[in-house]
Amino acid sequence: AVKEKTSTLNTTKSDAIFKAAQDILPGGVNSPVRAFKSVGGGPIVFESVKDAYAFDVDGNKYVDYVGSWGPAICGHANERVNAKLKAQIDKGTSFGAPCELENVLGQMVIDRVPSVEMVRFCNSGTEACLSVLRVMRAHTGRDKIIKFEGCYHGHADPFLVQAGSGVATLGLPDSPGVPKAATNTTLCAPYNDLDAVKKIFEENKGEIAGVILEPVVGNSGFIVPDKSFLEGLREVTTANGALLCFDEVMTGFRISKGCAQEYWGVTPDLTTMGKVIGGGMPVGAYGGKREIMEVVAPAGPMYQAGTLSGNPLAMVAGIETLEILGEDGAYEYMDKMTTKLINGILEAGKAAGHEVCGGNIRGMFGLFFCAGPVKNFADATNSDTDKFARWHRGMLEEGVYLAPSQYEAGFTGLKHTEEDIDFTIEAAKKVFARI
Ligand code: PLP
Repeated sequence: AVKEKTSTLNTTKSDAIFKAAQDILPGGVNSPVRAFKSVGGGPIVFESVKDAYAFDVDGNKYVDYVGSWGPAICGHANERVNAKLKAQIDKGTSFGAPCELENVLGQMVIDRVPSVEMVRFCNSGTEACLSVLRVMRAHTGRDKIIKFEGCYHGHADPFLVQAGSGVATLGLPDSPGVPKAATNTTLCAPYNDLDAVKKIFEENKGEIAGVILEPVVGNSGFIVPDKSFLEGLREVTTANGALLCFDEVMTGFRISKGCAQEYWGVTPDLTTMGKVIGGGMPVGAYGGKREIMEVVAPAGPMYQAGTLSGNPLAMVAGIETLEILGEDGAYEYMDKMTTKLINGILEAGKAAGHEVCGGNIRGMFGLFFCAGPVKNFADATNSDTDKFARWHRGMLEEGVYLAPSQYEAGFTGLKHTEEDIDFTIEAAKKVFARI
């Protein structure tokens, strides 16, 4: 069992605030995984964040590998991003009218992401995925979609089928409140299993609007696709007149300057984005080939809208974040730090006699407590989640903040220093020795 509290970590104020929150917010949080339910112990309540660090209300400091679940790739409260935000605030925080910043960020996305010729901004990854589903259906005139077990595409009804992330963490196969009618057009296949996808296409000839997937999975832990799987999906969708969508909400601008699609050399028809392109402000986006995107209103008949969409604060934070990531060496730096980190952790785990496997691509990484390899969600469930819970709490006690679930990837950013990585590996050695 996980120890509730240890002498090394004072969480008195965190515990009090979380206790009060449970009377005010369902479960004490505004997003389920934050409640630490799957790792036990109370959640840490943050006071502030800066660079690679989080500071809690009890005065503890952590090296942070969650990074607000991805957006903090240039470090928390990055000076350059903050300067742009401060300047923008005095010009207004929301326009609800066209502004040139939307063109600037839109053009940056178009210039970098191979599949994107036109883009629509919205306010979250969930909105982006929901909207792209409507695009796939509107463009093809078909209803069915294929998704993969353990891939998360936000919390909209049609995607809450074997959805990984918080849904996996809580052990819910799907959610009450989602009508069958909303999910009976969602067909599910195991990740990395091209034959399963081909079979679904054969059984549903002329009915599949598209296939959506995470081009590196981060919502079942960290799972890498076979390149041949992605290439096969490209072929089978084209052959069947269906669309291929990469959900790059997590991988976008993290795996490479041109997203995972550039890294793998496989170009989808559509792409969803979020997290990093908002630089820490709420944002989402979807884009793709011009002839497909022109179905979206008011260019075309498919309705999708948003009061705060294209919000100027989100646009300036996104522009500056992509500027920083566009500078020489950004991805090489993240790759070097993250490879050192995960290799150090894996070596320490094995040296202490644990079965561990894991890896990274650039600034995204993960660790499972099983021998591996982990190629899909079923493999991921072989991980010893009780041990993960002890590992998670142990690392917190040593000053390292990891995602509070086995089924989430970890993130590094440009502000993680070599000292932070060495500190984390030393912490891992101590924790592996006692779990
Ligand atoms: N798609 C992927 C791949 C994600 O990782 C997430 C969130 O973690 C989403 C969609 C949903 O994004 P949001 O939480 O901004 O709604």
